[in-house]
Amino acid sequence: MKKLVVLGGGESGVGAALLAQRNHWDVFVSDMGSLSPSAKEIFKKNKIQWEDGTHSVERIIQAELVVKSPGIPNHAAVIKTIEGAGITIISEIEFASNYTDATIIGITGSNGKTTTAMLTHHLLTEGGVDVGLAGNIGNSFAKALIEDKREVYVLEISSFQLEHIKKFHPQIAVITNLTPDHLDRYNNSFETYCTTKFKLLQNQTNEDHFIYDADDQTIVSHISRLNPVAQQHPYSNTNSTTMFAINNPSLRGRHNAKNAMAAATIAQLFELSDQTIQSSLQTFQGAAHRLEPVVSILKVAYINDSKATNVNATFYALDSMNQPTVWIVGGVDKGNDYTSLLPLVHEKVKAIVCLGVDNQKIIDIFSSVVDVLVEAKDMKIAVKAAYSLSDKGDAVLLSPACASFDLFKNYEDRGNQFKAAVRTL
Ligand code: ADP
Repeated sequence: MKKLVVLGGGESGVGAALLAQRNHWDVFVSDMGSLSPSAKEIFKKNKIQWEDGTHSVERIIQAELVVKSPGIPNHAAVIKTIEGAGITIISEIEFASNYTDATIIGITGSNGKTTTAMLTHHLLTEGGVDVGLAGNIGNSFAKALIEDKREVYVLEISSFQLEHIKKFHPQIAVITNLTPDHLDRYNNSFETYCTTKFKLLQNQTNEDHFIYDADDQTIVSHISRLNPVAQQHPYSNTNSTTMFAINNPSLRGRHNAKNAMAAATIAQLFELSDQTIQSSLQTFQGAAHRLEPVVSILKVAYINDSKATNVNATFYALDSMNQPTVWIVGGVDKGNDYTSLLPLVHEKVKAIVCLGVDNQKIIDIFSSVVDVLVEAKDMKIAVKAAYSLSDKGDAVLLSPACASFDLFKNYEDRGNQFKAAVRTL
């Protein structure tokens, strides 16, 4: 049997291992961290060999093919060793795509991937298409191919997944936008990050489709340089062919209008009627932690936008606020440039609650436009501070513009702690 190593035993690693085993590979999973009890259980049940807390390099370099999980950076020693041994490294979406003929809709971008993927899935489902949703959201693509066989898949795809594709070929590709994010993984090069996102298009032909935000100058300039061959479907604020009325709290904000344009364009490619698209836009329920209304207390609206882990996402959160806002911000700074937020903060923010281990950068930049800045070292304190700083008619917005790992497990944990703290007020 041919040997395959899966590096990393998280969601995508488990999926890749299961799919590989069903397709007669001799599979070995190796994870430097600790595997979850559920992953171990699945491996045991399926007789898949694994190790954690170490990488047995001798064994790994016996492999013919390595499937790398997106969380493992390319500069990791084990990756260098595998490359040095001349072994092919691919990502889980690349591996999975070898085992299906389904139509693939690949959605990437800096922000809006999850929302656009969920909305596309919703519109197509309502339109009677046999469609699954996978990738960075819910099931990995590999697992979906085992557990949820469909004719069409909407895949949310991160730049990390795209780093190691070869033949991966979405018939429909979407780039929602390109703004700096994860630059720590790209030698601080925005250009490298953007080029990686465009790899989504590398295997498309002129029978395929490419949907993008034509108001995003970074996307537009990459198109003129890279000349993608797929049929292009730009959407724009000014010149949109797909105009639908959006009157759904789950799709508030200019950014969500863009996400809706992308999803509606896909629905039109599937020849769904405008009427179906219009009515399905109204019934869409947004994902948690994205401008999620939590509750109103004493006429103050509490909004959870914990998923805003970069400056651009927070820009649109602030942009969508219609009332004086107490803004909870901070966490792990990924090399943020906050300048673009200054006018909005000046206009809309009455007080800032800094929620991070190191808040100095935030204090330095925003004290020029906001008089009241306080620091909090956990969520309960932050929410209490926001509560006392807010008045009737205000909003309290958690939109951190930063990663969560200094004080929280992940952005979900941060958002859940916010909601729990708000509910005890
Ligand atoms: P992703 O999966 O790319 O992280 P999400 O849909 O989960 O995208 O949204 C992440 C954050 O970005 C949320 O705070 C959300 O409100 C914001 N957001 C969603 N769509 C867009 C967009 N098109 N442009 C900018 N920000 C967006």
